[in-house]
Amino acid sequence: MPKRVAVLGGGGFIGGHLAKRLKSQGNWVRVVDIKFHSYFEKDEFCDEFLIGDLADPATASEVLSGSFDEVYQLAADMGGAEYLFSGLNDANVMSSSALINIHVVKAAVKHGVKKLFFSSSACVYPEFNQMDPLNPNCEEDSAYPAQPDSEYGWEKLFSERLYLAFRKNYGLNVRIARFHNIFGPFGTWSGGKEKAPAAMLRKAIECEEGGEIEVWGDGSQTRSFLFIEDCLLAIEALMEADFSDPVNIGSENLISINSMAEIAVQISGKNIGIKNLCGQEFETKYGFPCPIGVMGRNSHNKLFEEKTGSKIQSDLESGLKETYQWIKSQSEQSK
Ligand code: NAD
Repeated sequence: MPKRVAVLGGGGFIGGHLAKRLKSQGNWVRVVDIKFHSYFEKDEFCDEFLIGDLADPATASEVLSGSFDEVYQLAADMGGAEYLFSGLNDANVMSSSALINIHVVKAAVKHGVKKLFFSSSACVYPEFNQMDPLNPNCEEDSAYPAQPDSEYGWEKLFSERLYLAFRKNYGLNVRIARFHNIFGPFGTWSGGKEKAPAAMLRKAIECEEGGEIEVWGDGSQTRSFLFIEDCLLAIEALMEADFSDPVNIGSENLISINSMAEIAVQISGKNIGIKNLCGQEFETKYGFPCPIGVMGRNSHNKLFEEKTGSKIQSDLESGLKETYQWIKSQSEQSK
């Protein structure tokens, strides 16, 4: 049956894809963001697009009035490593996103939203469990005792607790996903807010034959990456599951950052080298310490599988190939 759905932060990467999918399934979709989507035309991905600052209580209340079956809260002051881990934006990242979540959760209760999805992050996990690149621990219950390595992670942890408190005291029906590095086309690919996969692919695209691409850190740090289409399937499965504690949504295929850079180079078909930049050399060039984050991070999907009865699929290489073609076309258009 078609539902009335709101996607907050739908002018962004994951929210835009999610709104498009929900609309294509026949639902009525309202998107709210402080900016228009950079790539999708309104009719392509929603029925109504409202520009508004969700950190403002009156706006949050207004946009959630209208009997919503589902609200997806993805709005956040967000970026890649440079934006989130350099420390240069901590005050804005924490205050903007916390205000958004406080006003959204109150508005959701006031207007009787039936189910609310909150996008948390793998950045909530404690630094001390992610020192070994080959053996990080990101099981859901390892989040406490808490010691995220970024203010972004602390805000997400606070907001998870906020939604859970409103579940406890006001009966709000929530779903909370801890996303691990979602990537794909129609996302930020330049300008400092892009994440590692887009940055590597762009560098490979722009690099001349025989040149080299810069990779931050010594390249041994590990992560896992989930293609956007696989992420959307996982969100749907979680929304349908009868479980409202935080759950990982990510790939379990751990890969070093240098190995990912090598795949980007391979896809480009060029003869390109990799230059790792870290320590003093990095700081001298950029004016802030190298923002590599924790040494290892990987999704752990046992709880997801148990609660949803489904598995998260992921094929890094084909996702990177598709994203490469899209960034290449964007890069050519911007010349
Ligand atoms: P994104 O930056 O593309 O999307 C976030 C959107 O929120 C943007 O369009 C932005 O304009 C909007 N926004 C920011 N402040 C707002 C405000 N005050 N009012 C209204 N809209 C506002 O980021 P994304 O990659 O699509 O991430 C979506 C969510 O998933 C975020 O909450 C992010 O923290 C979380 N997440 C993403 C990843 C990932 O790998 N992309 C990983 C972990 C968590």
